[in-house]
Amino acid sequence: MEEPREPHVLVLPFPAQGHIKPMLCLAKLLAAAGLRVTFLNTHHNHRRILPRGPSSPPSSLLRLESISDGLPDDHPRSLERIEELLLSIKTAMKAALREFLVSKSAEPPVTCVIADGIMSIGIDVAEELSVPAISFRTFSACCLWTYFCIPTFIHEGKLPFPDDDLDKEFHGLLGAEGLLRRRDLPSICRSAIAINLYRYFMDETIAMTRACALILNTFDALEAPMLSHLATIFTDIYTIGPLHALAVKSHVGHFSGRSESVGSLQMEDRSCMVWLNSQASRSVVYVSFGSLVKITVDQLMEFWHGLVNCGRPFLWVLREDAILGENEEKARSLLSELKVVSERRRVVDWAPQEEVLAHAAVGGFLTHSGWNSTLEGIVAGIPMICWPRIADQQINSRWVSEVWKIGLDMKDTCDRSTVETMVRLLMDDKKEEIMKSMARISALSSDSVGPEGSSSKNLERLVKNIRKICQ
Ligand code: UDP
Repeated sequence: MEEPREPHVLVLPFPAQGHIKPMLCLAKLLAAAGLRVTFLNTHHNHRRILPRGPSSPPSSLLRLESISDGLPDDHPRSLERIEELLLSIKTAMKAALREFLVSKSAEPPVTCVIADGIMSIGIDVAEELSVPAISFRTFSACCLWTYFCIPTFIHEGKLPFPDDDLDKEFHGLLGAEGLLRRRDLPSICRSAIAINLYRYFMDETIAMTRACALILNTFDALEAPMLSHLATIFTDIYTIGPLHALAVKSHVGHFSGRSESVGSLQMEDRSCMVWLNSQASRSVVYVSFGSLVKITVDQLMEFWHGLVNCGRPFLWVLREDAILGENEEKARSLLSELKVVSERRRVVDWAPQEEVLAHAAVGGFLTHSGWNSTLEGIVAGIPMICWPRIADQQINSRWVSEVWKIGLDMKDTCDRSTVETMVRLLMDDKKEEIMKSMARISALSSDSVGPEGSSSKNLERLVKNIRKICQ
């Protein structure tokens, strides 16, 4: 009789911050549950994580490895040049992945691949090697369901639509009747998006259905209706979010002895925590547009004046590469002017966001509505003002304002008076009403990762199933 194989899971994230963080959380949780796990980054991101990561792996069962993404070291890997990255993933990186999996690097042999929902190369190579593959889409269920409906909308002539009448109601998304305007659909529905990108993300979505199961970083009580629609496509769904909260509950939230957040690709400026200590309770607006979104100088100045005019202290994350369309020197000098520390405002390159949101001085979150940020806001119970730009952000922000009612959506506008009005509404006039909904949703998120919570139970189920399919 053949010896049973030791389960060995390969976790393959898309090479970007918002994907690496939740997938590394999952890798740590699987290792903590006793499974052997290899987390496979690109060399480029592996180098950025490791110097501040643990000197030895966080668990003897978790290995952090890397392969090339096929791009030269000095490639910016920015949104503007994402097509080059996507092409390289499909070609050079896929070859490197195959090579990694058949070589000694993956000893004992990998018996299951968990591939990011936009890394179907993981499913392709798993199929070639007759290994089961599970898909992990790192964004919301409401957005994933919308993606699956897009081909029908195109067939019915509802898409594409002209971008000049974005306020027109959009009908036809099951479970969202009367809720959506054109501007609330994911950004790939807008005609300004390059057709190559549209095709790439739609092909990746369809490819997910070749996996034997689906993992989502959400929780049942938050997105039940959308999850029931997705259950018509996927027979085996594991909702195990908010993953960062589950990781903290399971004591794998932080690398031991270090204070950096799990999977952060940038050095966190912890001096902002000291600044927060000097601010009054629930007075500060925390502003962050995530790891990819860029803004023009005009937009930046509108936000700046709006925030200053509302009279609230604010902490703003402005990455070195956050300014769009300016020459580097000009952008650097503008950023250093804004970074002058004052009692009322603080600008940093990168913050320990989960800790910032948990700080008693923070009362509001001006966010781009990236899915991780949305979940982190919910867990911390901090109401949001949403300024979505790309991908799932447009639909997340609509759910934040109209379904969960835990924030306000200022989609597609950012003039200073709107910013000022939004902050006043969130922090004063509508505070009570929004905080009430937020307290309810936040409590549900906490329940979901408790010992008997749906996400904890689903993680247990996932571990069991991985052991089974690895036989
Ligand atoms: N983040 C952080 N520090 C910052 C800004 C962002 O640690 O100063 C983290 C944030 O906690 C979140 C991730 O970066 O986990 C951003 O992911 P999200 O899905 O919100 O947006 P994306 O970067 O993918 O657009």
